[in-house]
Amino acid sequence: MPKMAQQRACELIDRLARVHSLELAEYEELVRAFSPEVAAYAADRAVEERRRVYGTDVYIRGLIEISSYCKNDCLYCGLRRSNRSAERYRLRAEDILACCDVGYNLGFRTFVLQGGEDAAFTDEVVCDIVRAIKAAHPDCAVTLSLGERSRASYQALFDAGADRYLLRHETADPEHYARLHPAELSWEHRMNCLCDLRDIGYQVGCGFMVGSPYQTAAALAADLKFVETFRPAMVGIGPFIPHHATPFAREPAGLVDLTCYLLSLLRLIDPALLLPATTALGTLDANGRERGICAGANVVMPNLSPTDVRQKYELYDKKAHAGSEAAEGLAELRRRMEAIGYRVVIDRGDVKRLD
Ligand code: SAM
Repeated sequence: MPKMAQQRACELIDRLARVHSLELAEYEELVRAFSPEVAAYAADRAVEERRRVYGTDVYIRGLIEISSYCKNDCLYCGLRRSNRSAERYRLRAEDILACCDVGYNLGFRTFVLQGGEDAAFTDEVVCDIVRAIKAAHPDCAVTLSLGERSRASYQALFDAGADRYLLRHETADPEHYARLHPAELSWEHRMNCLCDLRDIGYQVGCGFMVGSPYQTAAALAADLKFVETFRPAMVGIGPFIPHHATPFAREPAGLVDLTCYLLSLLRLIDPALLLPATTALGTLDANGRERGICAGANVVMPNLSPTDVRQKYELYDKKAHAGSEAAEGLAELRRRMEAIGYRVVIDRGDVKRLD
């Protein structure tokens, strides 16, 4: 990359670190300026910012994948309803509670219940599960990630005790959204869900895949601007990885390096963000978790689902669920984080807003 362009990118990064805001066109410039040198510069600034807010703490979340049934047909996802070869399962309330008990003893203080959009998980069912987890482990946070529901449903789940909700916006560009989803799913509805969740009082997480088909630099810039203006508590990003039984089977996977660069930019947009180094990052690169943390992430979400269902929650091919991706591998994860100068802590890991 020419020296001038590199210098301009570093100036933009310095400004972002100072004022936490850029024009949309400037975000696009930064996305286009992605190079090993610029990414290393952004990572250094991001790590400084993260240290200021969270020190060297890494928060862990126990991820429980409660159902692989899904009524949706997202073109990228292995759980899509058209995938007739997917093995479907649904955890019972007692299975989920048993996972939480195991997780609590391992040191988890946040449980994330994630699943496809499965009609069996009615408000009543999920509210009962949330209440039971809170009764058994009152010092823990419950995060839900169950897709699009009505405002009344989100309110009921919040009233039952859910603290956080993850709903990736997938892309801030409506045209791009339409190319990733069937016509019955709308970008406007997804965005309205995010607004409802925030209004109700959840700590809200949005997010997007990096390198999803048809993604442009302009779309990524729109994602960054959306995070800046929406001010979520969490942002989940990970590389797109193809699944063999979806229309995107032959599309290339997203880049680990670009994902790490975007993690750094997100950290500079909001130093207090809860930013996971995601499973998708760990799937494409054996050191993906560490690389994410060194780029500015501060959360890891090991898999706490019963071991016999883990391979059935197949969003993409070869999804990692062993070693430090697994809750039982926590000792290994701790060691790996310590080796890069970080510390896995026993903590709910709430967002630390400094303003
Ligand atoms: N159904 C819920 C929802 O829609 O939010 C939660 C489960 S959904 C499977 C969780 C996330 O997985 C999606 O938001 C999407 O970004 C990600 N995902 C799905 N397929 C993927 C793929 N092929 N590569 C990478 N990430 C993928």
